[in-house]
Amino acid sequence: MTHPAQPKASHFINGAYVEDIAGTPIPVIYAATGEQIAKVHAATPAIVEQALATAKAAQKEWASTTGTERGRILRRAADMIRERNHELSVLETYDTGKPLQETLVADATSGADALEYFGGLAGSLTGEHIPMGEDWVYTVREALGLCVGIGAWNYPTQIACWKGAPALACGNSMVFKPSETTPLCALKVAEILHEAGLPAGLYNVIQGMGEVGGALVTDPRVDKVSLTGSVPTGKKVYAAAAANMKHVTMELGGKSPLIIFDDADIENAVGGAINGNFYSSGQVCSNGTRVFVQKGIKEKFLKRLAERTQNAILGDPMDEATSFGPMVSENQMNIVLGYIEKGKEEGARLISGGERAYMDGYFIQPTIFADVTDDMTIAREEIFGPVMAVLDFDTEEEVIERANDTEFGLSAGVFTKDLSRGHRVIGKLEAGSCFINSYNDAPVEAPFGGVKASGVGRENSKEAINYYSQVKSVYVRMGDVEAAF
Ligand code: NAD
Repeated sequence: MTHPAQPKASHFINGAYVEDIAGTPIPVIYAATGEQIAKVHAATPAIVEQALATAKAAQKEWASTTGTERGRILRRAADMIRERNHELSVLETYDTGKPLQETLVADATSGADALEYFGGLAGSLTGEHIPMGEDWVYTVREALGLCVGIGAWNYPTQIACWKGAPALACGNSMVFKPSETTPLCALKVAEILHEAGLPAGLYNVIQGMGEVGGALVTDPRVDKVSLTGSVPTGKKVYAAAAANMKHVTMELGGKSPLIIFDDADIENAVGGAINGNFYSSGQVCSNGTRVFVQKGIKEKFLKRLAERTQNAILGDPMDEATSFGPMVSENQMNIVLGYIEKGKEEGARLISGGERAYMDGYFIQPTIFADVTDDMTIAREEIFGPVMAVLDFDTEEEVIERANDTEFGLSAGVFTKDLSRGHRVIGKLEAGSCFINSYNDAPVEAPFGGVKASGVGRENSKEAINYYSQVKSVYVRMGDVEAAF
């Protein structure tokens, strides 16, 4: 019998499901059991061509509709996603292995928030009037054209919406390629957008590996590329986009610092460290994986952290009591287990976890290392799994310098009761998305994105509009033109 997660076909182009079995088969593996639940095919050159041609053809007419009309469709899609939240959350769990406890509140709902927010903004994307004496300049905010979105595997519904919603609100069309590890959810987003009234051709989903992504990024018809992925992929995609001077948004990896001062509320700081390391089994780009703890509270902090981490419930992700799921794939599990071994070899002190959890699927125990030093591999490289590195520090100046000593700059957090110190420290940290006495909140109203190697551009909030539109300026002369001859 066909599994309920099996989509009707691999791709969604021009308002309909499309198949081409000549493409490389991509098995969809349910991470909680290791069983294959579905199969899609990578896009062949013919499918890539169909998607790009249809998106190019549909865009101009869409851009000529009013923002209010575009917004109405996006907001309708948001409502439909909320109505179907349970079904979409189950699909997200099949796609990623993340527990239903999380997907019910963090995935389809976050996608709906983006569609609602950008749907609301669409009607007010106006320009400026700039007086120049009797002349004036006016500006027009225009769509970029055809946008390509390329997703990572940790939040497949959310990423499809975080890119699609602002792109469509601004009058662009999109071809979205999900990660080959999680190909299912974006197809549903496309289906719902069209059920909500989106004209055919404006939001297309095609499957494939990096090769298909590469074909999209280098196509001269594409005006913008928005990638969520790792820094090495980001560098390749950014370089390829630069060849044709395309616009880019790069949402890449991180190794973010979470700084806990002696005066912090211990329970809140422990909660922040748990949210910033173990949510989605650590597969979150903005995670605060370098937890700097001031020496005065170190042992107290570690004790409560270890105690509370014991409360994680590993198990069937479809059971709403389960709070900690598997790694997305066997490959990712092996990468993370490799880092855990490195942590042990390089002399970090294991406080909790440190092993594969021996049950069906790709589970790793939530793992905490203490006495981590700045030079250890687990303190330098993005692990993308449930491995927290706790480092000690003495002074504010010292911790700021050490926190910034990384190529990454996605996020940063500070826990302290001294609010002037909180703002002062955050002000000096080289990161795009920051938190004071909290960690990993990502409301659609707030800009999200990194500095340094962690990326270019911002998603969400009004900021995202700047990355999916461009400004035309028009000088209007009222009098005669003076010329030299
Ligand atoms: P990845 O870089 O391996 O792949 C990301 C996407 O890029 C996939 O769809 C992949 O098929 C595609 N791709 C690979 N090579 C390509 C190429 N040459 N041209 C075009 N596309 C190509 O990342 P991943 O393993 O899927 O995801 C994990 C990474 O994503 C982590 O580094 C994580 O930090 C990052 N991430 C960042 C954010 C953010 O918003 N900043 C969010 C989630 C994940």
